[in-house]
Amino acid sequence: MPLVPMTEFLPKAKANKFAVGQFNMNNLEFTQAIIEAGIEEKSPLIFGVSEGAMRYMGLEYTVAMAKVAAETSGLPVALHLDHGSSFEVVMKCIQAGFSSVMFDGSHYPLEENIRLTKKVVEAAHAVGVSVEGELGTIGGVEDDVSVDEEDAALAKPEEAIRFWEETKVDALAIAVGTAHGMYKGEPKIRFEIIDEVARNVDAPIVLHGGSGVPDESIKKAISLGVGKINVNTENQVACTRVVRQILDEKPDLVDPRKYMGPGREAIKEVVKEKMRLFGSSNQA
Ligand SMILES: [Zn+2]
Repeated sequence: MPLVPMTEFLPKAKANKFAVGQFNMNNLEFTQAIIEAGIEEKSPLIFGVSEGAMRYMGLEYTVAMAKVAAETSGLPVALHLDHGSSFEVVMKCIQAGFSSVMFDGSHYPLEENIRLTKKVVEAAHAVGVSVEGELGTIGGVEDDVSVDEEDAALAKPEEAIRFWEETKVDALAIAVGTAHGMYKGEPKIRFEIIDEVARNVDAPIVLHGGSGVPDESIKKAISLGVGKINVNTENQVACTRVVRQILDEKPDLVDPRKYMGPGREAIKEVVKEKMRLFGSSNQA
């Protein structure tokens, strides 16, 4: 199947109370691990690509790898720009073949965020590309996006509802207490914000910083209207742990396939677990 916009599966996810995972691509092994997990679980999936990862892999390689994964798997797969910082980078990705984009205007005042996001939605929808917007500021560090805990601001439900009504984004990321990276303690998720916003907008809510959120909290968030959950750090941790262990045990090993192969397996296992937890297995 060619790459599809998120509207191919997100409305169904919200209606049937499951969530589709966004798993970030970091290199070829991540791409293969994520798509193999999708094939084994018969799950739709979203390849997330941050601007940092795009610089690392190269835009053309990124699109080519995602396309091959989607076409050979037969699964509904979206290639999605994660935290796009400008209209220009969004356009560059759409032109290169992305089927979905996030425009993160959360650091702008509300009016400016609405104005800029609307501009992205108009251009993206004209060519069949889905759009995710963000309201409130999600804490933690993710590539180019770094937010101090003090500056992380929860989304105000009435503002989030107005943001959606004016922009008509296909997926709405709101800050509800999760953060990018791994948590030191247990994250305090504000379920009442998810509940109020989800009941008043058509678009599913997106949970960023899904790594390390307890399973029960994930299930509750989905039951309230979360339809997309982003996971990256847990995959990185699983891969690196295995690679480090192998290299520690065999200091003379030099063939990358001998440690990247097991690293890839470790990522696949995490992604499969998440697909089952999110309820997206057998929904492709
Ligand atoms: Zn994020």
